[in-house]
Amino acid sequence: MRIVLLGAPGSGKGTQSQRLVQRFGIPQISTGDLLRSAVARGTPLGLAAKDAMQAGKLVDDSIVLGMIRERLGEADTANGFILDGFPRNLAQAAALDTLLGQVGKPLTAVVLMEVDYRELTRRIAGRRSCQTCGSVYNIYTMPLGKEPRCQKCSDHPPLFQRPDDNEETVVARLQVYEQQTRPLVEYFRKQGLLSVINAQGEIDDITALLVAALSADTVKPAKKRAKRKVARRAAKKAAKSVGKKAAKKAGKKVAKRAAGKSAKRAGKKVAQKAAKKAAKKAAKKPVARKPAAKKKAAKKRAARKGSQRR
Ligand code: AMP
Repeated sequence: MRIVLLGAPGSGKGTQSQRLVQRFGIPQISTGDLLRSAVARGTPLGLAAKDAMQAGKLVDDSIVLGMIRERLGEADTANGFILDGFPRNLAQAAALDTLLGQVGKPLTAVVLMEVDYRELTRRIAGRRSCQTCGSVYNIYTMPLGKEPRCQKCSDHPPLFQRPDDNEETVVARLQVYEQQTRPLVEYFRKQGLLSVINAQGEIDDITALLVAALSADTVKPAKKRAKRKVARRAAKKAAKSVGKKAAKKAGKKVAKRAAGKSAKRAGKKVAQKAAKKAAKKAAKKPVARKPAAKKKAAKKRAARKGSQRR
């Protein structure tokens, strides 16, 4: 399973990815998490990404692609992965296709998680995360008290609110999503990879929808791909045999044409020779006179002789 979860910020990609990790045993790759970790560690990459993240803009493609290339090269991705927050624009999608194409492991499914804007802003405002285990909570759907703490970590560390989860940045992030990420819906639809689910409602219900979409999407395309392979092979074979026949036919035609041409040429030569011969003969032979002409000539000769005698 090589999956992309597509959706606006706050659509629940992170939460659902964590559930898919449990279910399918493949890792979640969140470019947002990778970038946040780089920022927290103060790496050069983190420093380069920090300003764009705080403004709710996309981080430079070269930074994100370098990170993804490195992450997808790790051993735990051998059986698949869930991409969360990547790709986020057409250039990233094309680069991902190339990257996966090079290793012969293309995407198997893309699921778009649709949520309306009012709900998105509510979710983002209520989102709290655990810095230790990365779990994501929402204080509106899961009351955690005044000082929310992680329920999964044994020492229950306090949860934190992402600095870019403030109202101003959220508006910018949603705009960026509309302008740069939304076109991916059509991009993946054209590839026959896209399913769309309504990602509003109970978390468990959304997980069920997601799993159903993935099962349909990972089984069907595999079958479709197998069918396409068989069809391609058959088409190749047919093309070959048709090609051979056509070549034979074409060969015959060419041969015929060539024969016709040489026959013409030969014909011309023969005719020319015959004409030459005839011309030679004609030159040698005295011109045959007609009987009437002969008589006239005899008369003239006799008349000439008579006049000489007189
Ligand atoms: P997220 O946690 O996915 O909402 O991402 C948080 C922020 O990280 C985004 O608002 C961007 O600034 C940055 N980011 C995450 N993923 C990408 C990506 N694929 N391309 C560019 N910037 C990204």
